[in-house]
Amino acid sequence: MENCIFCKIGSHEASAQIALENDDVIAFKSIAPIAQTHLLIVPKKHYKAVIDIDDPKIMFAMKEAVSSLVATLNLSGGYKLVFNGGRYQEVPHVHWHLLSGELENNSDLLNKL
Ligand SMILES: [Zn+2]
Repeated sequence: MENCIFCKIGSHEASAQIALENDDVIAFKSIAPIAQTHLLIVPKKHYKAVIDIDDPKIMFAMKEAVSSLVATLNLSGGYKLVFNGGRYQEVPHVHWHLLSGELENNSDLLNKL
């Protein structure tokens, strides 16, 4: 989708600190981290929100990306997987936040409900 920053990162038109990439998913460091580890897991295909994903393959690819990152970053002792929708979602392209380590308790991401 034109002018979508996460589509541009997925197609390498925009740069990011990439942690994982395959045909369906890209994961990269948040530019506004609220935890020691704060990665965004993003499908390369544009879906506005999690509820719009209509392909089980994409959901599984997202889950597999999380599994891989938890293993490679040694996060199995404690992590959070967070996603937002509607007015709580800042970028209108599906993204899951994978968080670990010290969290900022005053973060809007965790407290805005
Ligand atoms: Zn997009």
